Amino acid sequence: MDAIPLVHASLGEQELAAVAEVFASGWPAGQGPRSKALEAELADRYGVGGAVAVSNCGCALHLALLAHGVKPGDEVIVADYTFPAPAHAVHYVGATPIFADVRADTGTIDPDVVADLIGPRTVGIIAVDTVGLPADYTELVELTRRHGLFLVEDAACAVGATYKGVQAGALAPTACLSFHGRKGISSGEGGALLTADPQLAAAARKRASFGIEAIFDQARIVGLPIPVFTEIGYNYKLSDIAAAILQVQLGRIDELLARRNAFAARYTELLADEELITLPFVPEDRTHAWQSYLVRLDPSVSRAAVAADLRAQGIGCGHGTWASHLQPVYETKQTCPVSADLFQHHMAIPMHAELTMEKVERVATALRAAVRAHAGGPE
Ligand SMILES: *Cc1c(COP(=O)(O)O)cnc(C)c1O
Repeated sequence: MDAIPLVHASLGEQELAAVAEVFASGWPAGQGPRSKALEAELADRYGVGGAVAVSNCGCALHLALLAHGVKPGDEVIVADYTFPAPAHAVHYVGATPIFADVRADTGTIDPDVVADLIGPRTVGIIAVDTVGLPADYTELVELTRRHGLFLVEDAACAVGATYKGVQAGALAPTACLSFHGRKGISSGEGGALLTADPQLAAAARKRASFGIEAIFDQARIVGLPIPVFTEIGYNYKLSDIAAAILQVQLGRIDELLARRNAFAARYTELLADEELITLPFVPEDRTHAWQSYLVRLDPSVSRAAVAADLRAQGIGCGHGTWASHLQPVYETKQTCPVSADLFQHHMAIPMHAELTMEKVERVATALRAAVRAHAGGPE
């Protein structure tokens, strides 16, 4: 039987044709015509003042914190249950991440916990749209207004999701997207910084190019302007090759998301009555982008044994995402019990637009058999 991978990016002939055009143009590097066009399309799609195409979401988060002037001594509250890029970014600027526990039902940052964590050194919050499900932005925006904090939306997994009818990526004044191969749309590696403030976008764009204006533009100015370096910037540019792929992928968001939605609905239908499994919960006021489909296994089930069974049948699976505060690198004494519980009991099962209904059915059948075979043990 065919293997069923956990992840499979949807890249094909249209993307190849777009890459061929970039090769022919002679400008494969960043901040060229393709990146510029992509930035305009992103700004338009999200209705924001500026979009900056960058090489990944990790550097988008770094640029977001630099844009907000975060410095050593500052504290930034970060969602705990996530790929730990937000806490890494806080460390990039020498500040301290404060880990906020999450809602047990959604896995998204808990606004009540955030309210309790705000202190004299707090400068901002990074909320995460957990594996594609938007967080509680009404409450988060209200908290940041009341306390004069910045709010960054890490929408790395959430392209295509919505909250109260608004696109994920437009739910906070600053947002970061990822186009990594495991996300809803992809150029292999890639990312974007979205911001309401065009000046902030321009400054971030310069900072993503070693601290000078785009080389592509410089070459087109009459005369011989010599770029001046006024700050230590980085090379965070997205290549025009990747930008061309993303222009195609942007046009496919609805198509790819429709497929993920159908597969998620089928998993839910097939597994709803299984008592040893808790299915993902999507509150009525938001929609999921299904970057991952995470089920919570009953604590009596051996997750490792279930994973071994699935993998032996060629079915990809994973642990879900991370309880950031438990990662040794952060050396924190904080505890986030809900996040720790999800980290211990979640399991990711195959979710991508290249699945078929037949494969979804095979996964559901195999998962049900495996959890029943490995239940009843101690935790
Ligand atoms: C994947 C992910 C990132 C990192 O994205 P890259 O583009 O790989 O840097 C950041 N935040 C979250 C929540 C993610 O899931």
